[in-house]
Amino acid sequence: MKTYPKHYCGIFGIKDMPRAAEYAAYGLHAIQHRGQESAGIASTNGDKFFEHKGMGLVLRIFDNRILSGLEGQTAIGHNRYATTGKSELKNAQPLSVQCKRGGIALAHNGNLTNTKALRTELENHGVAFQTTTDSEIMLALLAQSDKPLDQAILDMMSKVEGAYSLVIMTETALIAVRDPHGFRPLSLGTLDGNPVIASETCAFDIIGARFEREVEPGEIVIFESNNVHTQRVANLPQRTLCAFEKVYFDRPDSKIDGQSVYGIRFAFGERLAKEYPIQGDIVVPILDGGKYAALGYAKASGIQLVEAFVRNHYEHRSFIQPNQSERDRTAEFKLNLIPELVRGKRVIIIDDSIVRGTTCKSRIKKVREAGAHEVHVLVSCPPHIHPCYYGIDFPDQSKLIAANNTQDEIRKKLDLDSLGYLSMEGFMEVLGQGHCLACWNGNYPTV
Ligand code: SF4
Repeated sequence: MKTYPKHYCGIFGIKDMPRAAEYAAYGLHAIQHRGQESAGIASTNGDKFFEHKGMGLVLRIFDNRILSGLEGQTAIGHNRYATTGKSELKNAQPLSVQCKRGGIALAHNGNLTNTKALRTELENHGVAFQTTTDSEIMLALLAQSDKPLDQAILDMMSKVEGAYSLVIMTETALIAVRDPHGFRPLSLGTLDGNPVIASETCAFDIIGARFEREVEPGEIVIFESNNVHTQRVANLPQRTLCAFEKVYFDRPDSKIDGQSVYGIRFAFGERLAKEYPIQGDIVVPILDGGKYAALGYAKASGIQLVEAFVRNHYEHRSFIQPNQSERDRTAEFKLNLIPELVRGKRVIIIDDSIVRGTTCKSRIKKVREAGAHEVHVLVSCPPHIHPCYYGIDFPDQSKLIAANNTQDEIRKKLDLDSLGYLSMEGFMEVLGQGHCLACWNGNYPTV
């Protein structure tokens, strides 16, 4: 199997728009790729909170009847892939609480690294948690505080560590928060002059909103009563956006930190062509991450791109436990080979990553069985040899194929004529500075 690392949640918020929950549903649909296990929307009419959550995909959870019950002109939403806490309805987000400052609802993308210590500390102070998520810790810290909300958020940010992009809603405010490292993306937009917040800019496009800017690492942006109030934490660390967002997770039509995801992947492919000038007949992409790198490779090498793998867009899983075998089966269901396109050909497959190697192996087997003359695999990033603690569901190090095998051993295991990973130098040249690279180089930004 090739087990694709899973996305880890998408968030969305909108304020002062009639039918806000409907916009939230469309926005969540656009970023569905970031989490497919559960989704939820919370809205407010300035007086009361309304919410609906369910397991599975956005368009299956929300219909007109449900959306019309989510009253008000402000809404936030969340797509979930479980990183901390089980995949079950009680852990679906947004999470909300009624406290002394009124209602607060929160949706989180990322993963905290000091969850256990904070949870124990809060429990010792009498906090009873309703979920097993790390996100509830942030909600509890906000609910407990007696300070004005912006100060409470700053205090919360001084306590939690790790990756978090947040949308927060009160009866009167919509708030965007990004952790000081800026691990996860978060963008601000406007729709008819009103604020919109989303994990990726493609969520703006679907509702006709205009991209305004990124939320800066360590920044809090509060929209309240037609005012915008921004603050940034002091002593910011170096910016370290997750580089794997751009390699694999983000939609190619999104712009992340000012870079076009499509353009970056295309440039990875051009760079691969420079580093691995293979004599081949066809370039074959694997899924979206590999697709745009393959386009770049094909253009730079002059070798024809052939979409020999067909993607099934109707993935079957949405409501059952995301155990490993289920994930593997989902990955397998995604792609099928058209054998006559590779028969007798020297095939250069472009993939975005090889994690465990097993899905990759079964696909290469199909290409071999179809009668390919040679099979080469090029990967549009360096080999993954370390786990991620910031919300990407990589397996532990013992299961990462590149952590336990030399490149030539991997080539033999996968039955390849050649295998090449994009060099770290080439990778960095395309990406530029300011990225987390810990799963490649082991330098964890928060340690
Ligand atoms: S360790 Fe890798 S996957 Fe995790 S945040 Fe850093 S770059 Fe992203």
